[in-house]
Amino acid sequence: MKSHARVVVIGGGVVGVGTLYALVKKGWSDVVLLERNELTSGSTWHAAGLLPLFNMSYSVGQIHKHSVELYRALEAETGQHVGFRQVSNIRLARTRDRWDEYMYYAGVAETIGVKVNLLTPAQVKEIWPLCNTEGIIGALQHPDDGYIQPADLTQALAKGARDGGAQIHRKTRVTAIAEKPSGEWLVTTDQGDIACEHLVTATGNFVRQTGQMLGLDIPVIPVEHQYIVTEPHPAIVERQRRGLPEMGVLRESDSSWYMREENGGLILGPYERGAPACYVDGPAEKAEFELFQEDLDRLAPHIEAAMIRVPAFAEVGIKKVYNGAIAYTPDGSPIIGPAWGRRNLWLNEGHSFGVTASGGAGWQLAEWIVEGEPSIDMMGVDPRRFGPYAARGYLKVKNEEAYRNVFTPHFPDEERSSARPLKRTPCYDRMKALGAVFGSVYGWERPGWFAPPDLALSEADLDRPDVILNHNHAPPTDDGRVVEKWSFRRSNYFPHVGNECRNVHDNVGLLDMSAFAKYQVSGPRAEEWLDSLLANRIPKQKGRIALCHLLSMNGGVRSEFTVYRTGPQSFYLVGAGAFERHDFDCLEKALPPSGGVRLEKVTTQYGVLVLAGPRSRELLQTLTDVDLSNAAFPWLTGKFIDVGIAQAHALRVNFVGELGFELHHPIEMQNTIFDLIMDAGKPMGIRPFGIKAMDSLRIEKSYRLISRELSIEYSALESGLDRFVHLNKGEFVGRDALVRWRERGFTNRFVTLEVHGTSDVDARGSEPIHDRKGALVGRCTSGGYGWRLGKSLALAMVRPDLGEIGGELSMRILGQSYPATVIPESPFDPENLKLRA
Ligand SMILES: Cc1cc2nc3c(=O)[nH]c(=O)nc-3n(C[C@H](O)[C@H](O)[C@H](O)COP(=O)(O)OP(=O)(O)OC[C@H]3O[C@@H](n4cnc5c(N)ncnc54)[C@H](O)[C@@H]3O)c2cc1C
Repeated sequence: MKSHARVVVIGGGVVGVGTLYALVKKGWSDVVLLERNELTSGSTWHAAGLLPLFNMSYSVGQIHKHSVELYRALEAETGQHVGFRQVSNIRLARTRDRWDEYMYYAGVAETIGVKVNLLTPAQVKEIWPLCNTEGIIGALQHPDDGYIQPADLTQALAKGARDGGAQIHRKTRVTAIAEKPSGEWLVTTDQGDIACEHLVTATGNFVRQTGQMLGLDIPVIPVEHQYIVTEPHPAIVERQRRGLPEMGVLRESDSSWYMREENGGLILGPYERGAPACYVDGPAEKAEFELFQEDLDRLAPHIEAAMIRVPAFAEVGIKKVYNGAIAYTPDGSPIIGPAWGRRNLWLNEGHSFGVTASGGAGWQLAEWIVEGEPSIDMMGVDPRRFGPYAARGYLKVKNEEAYRNVFTPHFPDEERSSARPLKRTPCYDRMKALGAVFGSVYGWERPGWFAPPDLALSEADLDRPDVILNHNHAPPTDDGRVVEKWSFRRSNYFPHVGNECRNVHDNVGLLDMSAFAKYQVSGPRAEEWLDSLLANRIPKQKGRIALCHLLSMNGGVRSEFTVYRTGPQSFYLVGAGAFERHDFDCLEKALPPSGGVRLEKVTTQYGVLVLAGPRSRELLQTLTDVDLSNAAFPWLTGKFIDVGIAQAHALRVNFVGELGFELHHPIEMQNTIFDLIMDAGKPMGIRPFGIKAMDSLRIEKSYRLISRELSIEYSALESGLDRFVHLNKGEFVGRDALVRWRERGFTNRFVTLEVHGTSDVDARGSEPIHDRKGALVGRCTSGGYGWRLGKSLALAMVRPDLGEIGGELSMRILGQSYPATVIPESPFDPENLKLRA
């Protein structure tokens, strides 16, 4: 083994080898892979090899698509058989909700470029004659989907990598990892040491041990997963004898299983309830090729459902049950990208569909390592999307939940209940007493909306009992009422959210935004550093506020911060709560090596209560003698004020487009402030409001969000950030690339759309947008009903020539096309008169 390489990859499963292959394809040949045993001796050897393209995530969807395209060409490239069978994949729907999910997904698929067909039950029967189609309302088919032999695929990727100069060392176990003073990594193995510039871990079920070597709690813990292989069935054998095509992969999502032909018999793979987390501290020393004792009781409900759907399955004996560890994360998506707090350390872990993801994950990771940026928005799989809260105890519970929900309908408003409540702000109980229905972000509980005390959904509104997986509502409240149904359409909370929006507009509302991420930047070089980083001008005077963006190296948008100057050498930055670890990591890694800047995370020191609405000033003025008049306290400024006996930094900004104040207060004073506000606000009609109302209000203002309208895939100017990007202010991250991007020309333009003719549905984001001829010309990034305007609205990225005001487009929402008109940005109060009032 050589003593130095540019990149060392740990782990010779399909994911590690896929990364090695992709690095070589990017032109880096000085790359080495270390595998403790044989290639594929981890999870890869017992994978069923399915390549499901279905994925609601824009990032993961693109990764899977790339993999399938790569695998199709791999055999020709390497001469190595991969056993790719493009047999197609059919997903059955038994309920309206499921059908809506498929319709929503069909839109995502179209924007990514994945082909799908919609099938009638009769068409399903034609392709899958052994399927009983009773009770089926339709099906979604991926014609390009299929399965592959995972071990053969891994060997082909290994050959491709070796052909390009990569070295693979089997029987080489990594025992320790250290950071050298030079910034390189020193990897110790039982076969000697190797140093490298970049280190990639792809250690599958061994990730807990890898994390220990690195001093990182990587948010992955595997779960047991089983599949059953049957004896041959005469009908399938006969089909084969007659040369009939393979029936393909069949999925009955509502019963949580998949099935395909295997050697004249069938494979049944259920995703069961009760599957336990395993390898919580990593597998034992000799865990290669390990399978667990099968648990047929756990499989029973799915086996019974499968027997009804495919009676032939009941007519054959079970040949073997595989029960192996499958890596999981709290949201079920893998961990692909840089590790937080470490340089040149890359994680490619937590893959529960690693065979499907390997090619695409390697492709993006290799771009990130070699070019410094991936080319697709990887926020959905970024390792930093979880924070330190996602540790061992949380992961066990949350990953089991992610596993058993693989097939549940992925409602956009679904809020899963395991491992909650975890992080509660002090006013949690007060909000709950007021009817808050909570959602969770980054472990924090946040009011989503407020249910009236007498609201209770009837049995008829809730799940269908004859379907195993059709859970469609939030858990009951403490007094046993179910108050929220999840849906792809306007749900029961729709009018209540409307009332919250109206009250913010007419009177005053209170929102708990304590989950915001907060950072303090100080020191003699703080201003200079922020200026070199962010695209907007940094506020010059104490008390001034500016919205600033950190761009990617390529000129896309990575992060957004409200920057509030608190002193000559100090700034307070507020960012999205969900991206705290991500944003802090980006800031920390950009700190000047020569010092002069101090960066601190202060999220849990400050709570944030947002007062918004025309009566917010009047209300707050009753609690402070600081002059809150517009002349003394204008928009986009902040002041440290008394709030009764408590205190807060009051910032005259908000995300809803009304007169308002964000009160950033010492978190331990939150309830005092809360009570003072609620008491003082009573005569002014104060009511709390939640995130759902905030989202509706922000869409009416065309306010962008990271990972929706703002992403590394769109240049900051395509996202319409012209007001916040000062190309002539001097150097800042991404500036030159943005200038070059502008010279090359843009392919997208941010627009606000009014969607016409909707009655029970609004856009949610990811819907395809078409021109008059029906050609795909863009994608929706956010959508919802604007209560102040009484209109269904959407934010979107479209082809630049179609973004003129008045342009007529159409948007496909849940399978139906609706006319959509490009309207001026910020349709509510375009002059910001309310904000400036
Ligand atoms: C029953 C079952 C069915 C499945 N079916 C499918 C399917 O149909 N489709 C699909 O896409 N996915 C499927 N999966 C998931 C799939 O198997 C995994 O996502 C995939 O194999 C993960 O690959 P990997 O390379 O990340 O991990 P692994 O294959 O586990 O590879 C990790 C490698 O790292 C090595 N390693 C670990 N630590 C060290 C160290 N310290 N030093 C050196 N080497 C080390 C290990 O020996 C191992 O070879 C299934 C999983 C199970 C359990």
